[in-house]
Amino acid sequence: MFSSPEEVFEKEKRYMMQTYKRPRIVLKEGKGATVKDSDGREYIDCVGGIAVNAVGYCHPIVVNAIKEQAEKLMHTSNLYYTEPQVELAEKLSGITGMDRVFFCNSGAESVEAALKLASKVTGKHKFIAAEGSFHGRTLGSLSVTFEPKFRSVFEPLLLNGVKFVRYNDAETIREAIDEDTAAVILEPIQGETGIMIPSNGYLKEVKEICEEEGVLLILDEIQTGFGRTGRWFCKEYEDVEPDIMTIAKALGAGFPIGAMLAKEGVEFQTSEHASTFGGNPLACAAALACIKVIEEERLVERSRELGNYFMEKVQVHDDGIYSNPIVKEIRGRGLMIGMELTKPCGEMVERALERRILINCTSDTVIRLVPPLVISKEQIDRVISVLREILQLDEPF
Ligand SMILES: *Cc1c(COP(=O)(O)O)cnc(C)c1O
Repeated sequence: MFSSPEEVFEKEKRYMMQTYKRPRIVLKEGKGATVKDSDGREYIDCVGGIAVNAVGYCHPIVVNAIKEQAEKLMHTSNLYYTEPQVELAEKLSGITGMDRVFFCNSGAESVEAALKLASKVTGKHKFIAAEGSFHGRTLGSLSVTFEPKFRSVFEPLLLNGVKFVRYNDAETIREAIDEDTAAVILEPIQGETGIMIPSNGYLKEVKEICEEEGVLLILDEIQTGFGRTGRWFCKEYEDVEPDIMTIAKALGAGFPIGAMLAKEGVEFQTSEHASTFGGNPLACAAALACIKVIEEERLVERSRELGNYFMEKVQVHDDGIYSNPIVKEIRGRGLMIGMELTKPCGEMVERALERRILINCTSDTVIRLVPPLVISKEQIDRVISVLREILQLDEPF
């Protein structure tokens, strides 16, 4: 189809909207925590499809589940019952502790559903979100996304009356609540803003305030879910039960699927919400296989162990990373790790790529590491040694 990577780059430029800035490699295949480009070069992938490929590339259990389901029934619409969908709903209820599920196809869509549901259940229309938040790019989810560079050209957005409060300061939420506030929406760890981890007790305090004030709490676990932080869901660290929860990213092991979950009584009724593709049998078969792999391979525990391993290596045994003056802070939970630099990290991403490591820079100065949870210790060692090497290169950037 294409004679060279250059042809791919040219045609992409000619035929696609230029919404993405990407390095000049074409990825062709992957296995475990590695991907190969069209020239056969292999990379250790610390981006993991942006925290999507938790079980690694081409896990045979996931691949087979998709193949088998594709041969039986890919799609029928939600006008009919299908088994994978109901099985997945039961499974998700079990691992999240939530009561009811609505299936959709992406993170932003699950946030849309959550906002819509909160409005309908409370009869109120204002939302409180945090400074630094990221909840998606559709007009509704963008309304509760903080970053001016994502939203400013589209303002005014669809939802008026969104108040942004300081993250990690629960009392600011109480002050922002008024008689028309439907819900507070938060990420338990802010991913896109650079792996911002709130203090212990923050979420619990927020939940208490929401209860006292009669406002719903929506937790966005789209990035933190499915073992990423060393628990199935990050909310478990504080034992907090939200009224509504959004999930997507790792749910389908790379197959697009999202879901919004809620407590009993916080529900849509017939015809109040719908999605043509939402929870179709193929997507649900992929998600069921993904969850099975996470369980069987104990990837939640593995994420916690490997996250600790990484942190100990760089912090406790500091092998030249933490003492480097460019490094401001390394923080994380499980395999959701951010390395904040004192300068923009774009150049580091290129230098890592040359050494066959994929990393990504979020929020300008933070290197985000969200590798597949199946990554090995040896691969982590390699990542650390490359990070050390490129930080120590003396030419300043
Ligand atoms: C990625 C992400 C979203 C948006 O998900 P999409 O599938 O890209 O629409 C929303 N919230 C959080 C916390 C995310 O990390």
